[in-house]
Amino acid sequence: FLMAYEPAKRLMRMRVTIEHGMAGVRMMFELLDKPITLLEAENPVELPDGPGHVKFDKVGFSYTDGKSIIRDMTLDFPAGKTTALVGPSGGGKSTILNLILRLYDPQEGTIQIDGVDIKTASFASLREKISYVGQDTFLFSNTVAENIRIARPDATDEEVVEAARVAHADEFIRDLPNGYETKIGENGAFLSGGQRQRLAIARAVLKEAPILVLDEATSALDANSEALVKSALERVTEGRTTIVVAHRLSTVIHADQICYLEDGRVVERGTRDELLAKGEKFKDLYEMQLLD
Ligand code: ADP
Ligand code: MG
Repeated sequence: FLMAYEPAKRLMRMRVTIEHGMAGVRMMFELLDKPITLLEAENPVELPDGPGHVKFDKVGFSYTDGKSIIRDMTLDFPAGKTTALVGPSGGGKSTILNLILRLYDPQEGTIQIDGVDIKTASFASLREKISYVGQDTFLFSNTVAENIRIARPDATDEEVVEAARVAHADEFIRDLPNGYETKIGENGAFLSGGQRQRLAIARAVLKEAPILVLDEATSALDANSEALVKSALERVTEGRTTIVVAHRLSTVIHADQICYLEDGRVVERGTRDELLAKGEKFKDLYEMQLLD
């Protein structure tokens, strides 16, 4: 099985390269640094101009080895609201984000955005709908301004600066040797983790996509940077459908809905107060974090 599968996978990658150009595919989600091996549907549709309601309908997924990672998951991510994914490592949180970004397709069920199966949507319209802020921010060797503008190439200088302001990035950018025109080194080597994240948030602000997919950093940011990132995120999640793998207690507290994932299933779901009242797994996690 593996022998037959591998060449097919390679062939798919090749076709992606030929049809879209690798650079173009990598730009899918603001230079998401993950391999994209899927093909666009033959006659792709445009996602409607809706509010960004994401829905999992009986989704089953395994990577390649047949081990079930997401099991029969039916779950709503309400438009304009924040859903926090929490739970033990390996439970499937990042996999859910991967599926929404369509880095993989589920073997069972469908994932819909505003009622349309994302498998049938064009890459361009998926990209337009979703902003991604990950644990690491992919930056390219160009100016700071261009690194933000990648999210919306026709944005004016004023719009770039405004997005940076909202993201609390304007302050540190102005302190760089050439401000917004400072060239970023090899993958942003001279910027701190918190600064890079704020650039990613500035991209998300500029893009104005209705859906925000967010994998919160686990690595410790310095206290000042953490406060700025937190405040920037509060601004950018407002009014957007936000799906976040949450590590920070503050994110969990503010979520409209919390899903506790274990072994590919949602075992508890509700608001913080509901889950605390339930007094089971989420409550244990919450109390453990409070002690940190
Ligand atoms: P979480 O984010 O909740 O820690 P993940 O979604 O990263 O969980 O992982 C869920 C399961 O899927 C884990 O058992 C992990 O080992 C497995 N997994 C994650 N990524 C891959 C991959 N690219 N290929 C195969 N298995 C993977
Ligand atoms: Mg993860």
